[in-house]
Amino acid sequence: MQNVLVTGGAGFIGSHLCDRLIRDGYKVICFDNLLTGSKKNVEYLLSSPNFEFIETDITKPLSLNLGPLNYIFHLASPASPIDYQNYPEETLLANSVGTLNILELARKTGAKLLIASTSEVYGDPLEHPQKETYFGNVNTFGPRSCYDESKRFAETATYVYIRKYDIDARVIRIFNTYGPKMQKDDGRVVSNFIMSALGGIPFRIDGDGSQTRSFCYIDDLVEGIVKAMFTGRTRGEIFNLGNPDEFTIEELAEKIIKLTGSKSEMIFSGKFRENDPMRRRPDITKAKAVLNWEPKISLEEGLQKTIEYYKKS
Ligand code: NAD
Ligand code: UDP
Repeated sequence: MQNVLVTGGAGFIGSHLCDRLIRDGYKVICFDNLLTGSKKNVEYLLSSPNFEFIETDITKPLSLNLGPLNYIFHLASPASPIDYQNYPEETLLANSVGTLNILELARKTGAKLLIASTSEVYGDPLEHPQKETYFGNVNTFGPRSCYDESKRFAETATYVYIRKYDIDARVIRIFNTYGPKMQKDDGRVVSNFIMSALGGIPFRIDGDGSQTRSFCYIDDLVEGIVKAMFTGRTRGEIFNLGNPDEFTIEELAEKIIKLTGSKSEMIFSGKFRENDPMRRRPDITKAKAVLNWEPKISLEEGLQKTIEYYKKS
């Protein structure tokens, strides 16, 4: 049986990934310090003999002897703007010191490594849609920079390790992803709007709602992550992973109101968040060609599943 480490495995994306890897027959070790994740996300896996949860902070020296490791998926980092602005130092350290610790672990064990980066490395993009070759338009000292710039550092560190130590690593740039197990209060737009709709309270729309995002359902993303790790000849490659269907934030609100039958009204703040990307859509030509991957779940279908989850939990 092959051994896999997932950092940030008790988070939204990490817990779905652990679940998928267990189902695919791997032995999974999950590292998480529960800063923005929850043990509840992996509770149902704890009884599996092939799953081990270790509460640990990846920014501290890794003193554990894990035995042989075949694969490492490195996802540990706050991800929602509210979370990383509440924890700017922790975010900076998770993606810098934490990533260096994980790169060292990959070097020592010879494990294949996948680093979770983000569409935020493109900042408020001047190129649209965004291709992997675009260098980005990022502010180094704005409220989002603890996340954007530390993810850019994580990418750079990965390429230093690939070139200097010949490790087998790849980078994925994840675009907005949503689905069951997103924390209800994480402040992200999909969770905020669904909670407002179900609670019958007004949607707070930043700016005039014309800013765009492209939303990927979690199952599609997990399939992309797995393919990026296990497809041959992906060493040293960067892949955008996201759904290329682009919507304004106002269109997203309208869809959620329709799907929930909510009577909530929309309140426009008239002011965009500082350094808010005005447009975001992945160009996934490379992932389609190399990984034979593209999202299959439409926004309506994915929202419906997510709404059902929030209603039940
Ligand atoms: P999340 O906050 O739900 O999960 C992150 C997990 O990492 C949490 O369980 C948290 O407790 C853990 N963590 C944070 N710092 C840690 C540390 N120092 N040591 C150990 N564990 C630590 O977020 P998510 O949405 O699941 O995001 C997972 C990854 O995907 C992140 O790297 C994020 O940057 C990336 N990403 C996510 C999205 C998205 O739309 N969800 C978009 C782009 C990139
Ligand atoms: N947003 C909004 N109302 C909310 C939450 C978010 O209008 O209750 C907007 C936010 O200003 C941004 C977009 O929705 O333009 C996406 O925000 P989110 O925090 O989900 O993630 P981002 O894509 O900015 O990382």
